[in-house]
Amino acid sequence: MIKFENVNKYFDQHKALKSLSFELPEHETTVIVGPSGSGKSTLLRSFNLLEQPEEGLYSLDDKVIDFAQPISEKTILEVRRQTGMVFQDYNLFPHLTVLKNVMEGPLHVLKEQKLIAAQRAEELLELVGLSDRANYYPNQLSGGQQQRVAIARAMAMDPKYLLFDEPTSALDPELEAEVLKVLLKLDVEKNSMVIVTHNMAFAKAVASNIIFLEEGNILFNGSPDEFFNHPTERIQKFLSAMT
Ligand code: ADP
Ligand code: MG
Repeated sequence: MIKFENVNKYFDQHKALKSLSFELPEHETTVIVGPSGSGKSTLLRSFNLLEQPEEGLYSLDDKVIDFAQPISEKTILEVRRQTGMVFQDYNLFPHLTVLKNVMEGPLHVLKEQKLIAAQRAEELLELVGLSDRANYYPNQLSGGQQQRVAIARAMAMDPKYLLFDEPTSALDPELEAEVLKVLLKLDVEKNSMVIVTHNMAFAKAVASNIIFLEEGNILFNGSPDEFFNHPTERIQKFLSAMT
């Protein structure tokens, strides 16, 4: 479970997250939506401490972090182990093949044996439909293929939570579709997911829970049925602007 209690995040004078409190249960897919600049990335990045809010409490399963206190390096590493992040722009290692990109974390962070890491990497490449690209380099792949490698790479660390920040916003529609297809296949029994997206059809298909952010406030936290079928006036306005 990911839980925030009264979390505030400032960038100088600007308050990017305003006293946020919520709980994301395990084995669910939470989709975060909202206008540009509403704090979606800041919130997602706070879950793996790429951003560190100044105030509030963060519980990740049985670990509790008080953002008002300094966070130890050990805690940061533990939290990052449990929360794998997939970025908008893939962030693959350009000098490593696809297979080596996926093996990198297990080999160097988890100290897995090479054969085991390679075997698992091959399974994950199969899952994302890229078995035949194992020995390619990132720059020999389409954006959609690179993003699927990034998903396999995040999964190779076996994090409890997978975090996706607009994973398809850099892609053309066909390439977006192949990435979304992979995301729909992921098993929430193994990984709980939090996905920031602008694609409302995808949000509807994948979400067990929707959070709507505006100007650093949560204006909605509830079921996709309520969000899409019984929207408030503000949400209705957002949804019409998206289509
Ligand atoms: P979203 O992902 O919803 O588009 P962000 O979380 O990126 O929104 O940004 C929320 C607000 O915080 C915006 O006003 C943005 O300009 C500001 N912001 C984000 N990151 C920084 C930063 N590193 N420094 C200063 N302001 C930032
Ligand atoms: Mg963003």
